[in-house]
Amino acid sequence: MTLGEGSTPLLRAGRLSAGPGVEVWLKCEGANPTGSFKDRGMALAVAKAVEAGARAIVCASTGNTAASAAAYAARAGIEAVVVHAAGGPASSKLAQVRAAGARLVEVDGSFDDAFAAAEELAEREGAVVVNSTNPDRIEGQKTAALEIIEQLGGPPDVLALPYGGGGNTVAYAKGFLEAGFPTLEIVPVQAADRTTTSASAIRIPTPVHRAEVDDAVARRGGTVVSVTDDEIAVAWRSLARQEGIFCEPASAAALAGIDLAGFAEGTRVVFVLTGHGLKDPDALDRLPEVGR
Ligand SMILES: *Cc1c(COP(=O)(O)O)cnc(C)c1O
Repeated sequence: MTLGEGSTPLLRAGRLSAGPGVEVWLKCEGANPTGSFKDRGMALAVAKAVEAGARAIVCASTGNTAASAAAYAARAGIEAVVVHAAGGPASSKLAQVRAAGARLVEVDGSFDDAFAAAEELAEREGAVVVNSTNPDRIEGQKTAALEIIEQLGGPPDVLALPYGGGGNTVAYAKGFLEAGFPTLEIVPVQAADRTTTSASAIRIPTPVHRAEVDDAVARRGGTVVSVTDDEIAVAWRSLARQEGIFCEPASAAALAGIDLAGFAEGTRVVFVLTGHGLKDPDALDRLPEVGR
């Protein structure tokens, strides 16, 4: 059961300003089949759901989990139900869901309300929840950590990624731990205002994996970083203009949260660019025009 997920490019960023001798790498997860990293975990979660005899999967989503669940359910010949907050997901993501024929359920409230509704619905209909609380999602997503080690010929010194619900952070921590790098520094970067950020993919008031994320970060001597929407906008535009990489705003949060000038020579930093820019083309007019 595959749509060709994984094996995404890891590109050297040569034009972003960094301290002398600091190596900056970009893991381009927008190159996955539905345009985000969610495909890695969804491929496995749907395959395992089918193996267990499920006829339907359910998820709550800010958009990308939905797009991925809809595509993999179609591929597997089962039904997908997607619950989302009214006005939450970017329009392109809903287009992906509708194209794949999944059922959309809109909920008044935030992502937290959508998640509660999805769990209830799954219980009632005997469907499998494919949010990141499903351990198969984490198992699939951890492959990105193993790929980076393979592509670099060894581990990076620092990995930074956007932090919404925290499933991806937990997956990278598990991947690096199992590969023998339990202390590799991971920096999850969240929106300073989780409820209203214009980076819709990380607009999650209460991260379901918060305790595990805090634990993984503390164990590795790192810290959770918060960034404003203006800081995200600066990083997002510089990725497109200086490196030619169009990602969605949430993906740029990682870059916004790290001071690249502060690293010692020889440090290797990887940023996980979680989703493709075409996921949220309206961002171009929505995000403030601010430059470095
Ligand atoms: C889901 C998502 C995130 C957040 O990942 P979590 O596992 O919820 O922390 C970040 N960026 C994009 C593009 C996403 O789709």
